[in-house]
Amino acid sequence: MRKDKPNLTFEELQEKLNYISDVEELELIKKAYDFAYTKHFGEKRLTGEDYIIHPLNVAYILTEIYSDSSTICASLLHDVVKKDESLYKEIKENFGDEILSLVEGINKINKLNLVGNTEAVISNHRKILVGLCEDVRVIFIKLADRLHNMRTLWVLPEVKQKEKAKETLDILTPIASRLGIGSIKSELEDLSLRYYKPDIYFEIVENLNQSKSERDNLVVEMKTKVSEILNKNNIKHEIKGRAKSIYSIYKKLDKGKKFSDIYDLLALRVFVSTKQECYQVLGLIHSKYKPIPKRFKDYVAMPKTNMYQSLHTTVFGIDGHLFEVQIRTYEMDRVAELGIASHWSYKEKGSNVKANIQNKVEQKLQFFRTIMDLKNETNDEESIKNISEEVLKESIYVFTPKGDVIELPIGSTPIDFAYRVHSGVGDKMVGAIVNNSIVPLDYELKDNDIIKINTNKNSNGPSREWINMAKTSGAKNKIRNFFNKIDKEEYIKKGEELLKEELRKRKMSINDFFEQSDKLLLDLKYVDLNELYTSIGNNKITVTQIFNIINNENKTKEELILNKATNNTVIVPNAKNDIIVKGIDDIKVNIASCCKPVPNDRIVGYITKGNGITVHRSICPNISELEERIIDVNWNSEISKKYPTTILIHASENKNILLDIVSKTTSSDITVQSINTIASSENNLYEITVLVSNKERLIKFINEINSINNIDDVERLIK
Ligand code: MN
Repeated sequence: MRKDKPNLTFEELQEKLNYISDVEELELIKKAYDFAYTKHFGEKRLTGEDYIIHPLNVAYILTEIYSDSSTICASLLHDVVKKDESLYKEIKENFGDEILSLVEGINKINKLNLVGNTEAVISNHRKILVGLCEDVRVIFIKLADRLHNMRTLWVLPEVKQKEKAKETLDILTPIASRLGIGSIKSELEDLSLRYYKPDIYFEIVENLNQSKSERDNLVVEMKTKVSEILNKNNIKHEIKGRAKSIYSIYKKLDKGKKFSDIYDLLALRVFVSTKQECYQVLGLIHSKYKPIPKRFKDYVAMPKTNMYQSLHTTVFGIDGHLFEVQIRTYEMDRVAELGIASHWSYKEKGSNVKANIQNKVEQKLQFFRTIMDLKNETNDEESIKNISEEVLKESIYVFTPKGDVIELPIGSTPIDFAYRVHSGVGDKMVGAIVNNSIVPLDYELKDNDIIKINTNKNSNGPSREWINMAKTSGAKNKIRNFFNKIDKEEYIKKGEELLKEELRKRKMSINDFFEQSDKLLLDLKYVDLNELYTSIGNNKITVTQIFNIINNENKTKEELILNKATNNTVIVPNAKNDIIVKGIDDIKVNIASCCKPVPNDRIVGYITKGNGITVHRSICPNISELEERIIDVNWNSEISKKYPTTILIHASENKNILLDIVSKTTSSDITVQSINTIASSENNLYEITVLVSNKERLIKFINEINSINNIDDVERLIK
């Protein structure tokens, strides 16, 4: 069935706009149509239709998710600037900044080259697409634009069809799904499958056709039975037989199920007015038809992250046939079809309410972005931290000469770009050309810059100054790595020379030294002689200190061990599976750095703007005023990781106290991560960050420290 409307008229669109009552808004839509009509006049689509049919269809699709008048205007105008960018000015003058920015937004993302082959690239593209849209309405237009193009995809050659279909499945349907726009999502999926894997698609269609009359009869019969039960109990309702989407059947076949096993081919949907009635209906159906326990899902009490709500159950229905039954209110159904777009409906219009809705949508979008970030599976915690910082800062989007998009934080330079493309490109870079002009390497890149990096394979590598010119941690690290490799070799050489010189002075033979070196390495916790040479070479340890150790001067040794033990930076583990957030499975969880909770501490979650949930100790004063953002969280019962926490130690004297404290950790399963000494004339304060498995262990440790002489007080620190 062709869903596109090749003969759509503006009058038909106007009829669909009956949810908009404001006369001025309706007039502006007419004006946008006239503008687009004139600008596209004479232009044809590949299908042979007048071009205006495309923007009209896009606008028509948007009325089905009740888009507001600005979105409708922008959708009518969206393609006029394709050939003539000077029209942006006219759009601004005639339709204002809001509509202009929507038109700009959709054209910006339509220019992107979003094909990718690995999951990492694809999910990055999804992220970029979402990141580029400051306004969620741009995504609505993009989805509608693509839907109409998919409906007329038959016009393109097969290779192009497959490409578009794959891009739609990879990038756009997941976005539609996250935004909860069920109506657009499932049509896009079915259309994509039809072109991407036509064999399977038509096999499913044929199978469905063969069994159609039998299934139809069963559904009608079951509908009547259920309706009788509900009528007897005075529950006002509607029941619809439900066609499973072809794509959802394909997914199940793809998982290895046989066609005959896909039981939810028989499906009913029951609509009622209230939430209570949903559960009532569920109870009544279960009392008559035996349910399959594992197939019951309560998305009413626990909505999906895209706001979807419904009760799902599978029961043995008439003649023992399995029926998948969904029970929901009309309002839940509206959200299931419209998702995030349901907030834009005109039902609740009114100035204050509208601002409120806008805010809600933005929060959801933030939430959605966070989830997208999570999908970027990186396991290295440090880089997760850096990446999320970079994502949260504002980004720019620049292009390779081939049109591939690269996302970089604001302030990035050609150095960041080169290392993002490939470290080989960075290391061999000799110059950069931005938009056809040569630029210095500290040039600050701007949105939409096209960058070409000149390389020379005989280049000796980056310059040390580049570390300061680069903005991203990725580029800085890669440059540092380059030098670390070179430096290490030099340090080893230098260290070995210094040691040999000292041996000559002390008239000690090299062999004598080697005889003692095993014990020395053990004392210093070095792996091999190279590590020792490196430490000498870069002045971490002096040759005099080494001979002091060999001559058994213990104090020096302890100092060195202490230095080594406390030289680490604090690494906070990824708390993802250790914290249970009530009702939500897939959300980013961070441990608060102010109060640093450890397992078994009493905790609460704080919903941040766009960065998931931060877990604080429940006594943390930093969260007390923000009650509406608080959410229940719990520690998982089995946690294998250790968490950092900071304690503050007050001592009356500073004699060797640090060593005493550190010695309390070596015997136990506590690791010192950093020590900060804050000494003043009357106080000796130590701020110590330790890694500990749980609260009980921490209390024991605090008691142990308390028992050390000259310790006045020990407390956990909250910043
Ligand atoms: Mn278009």
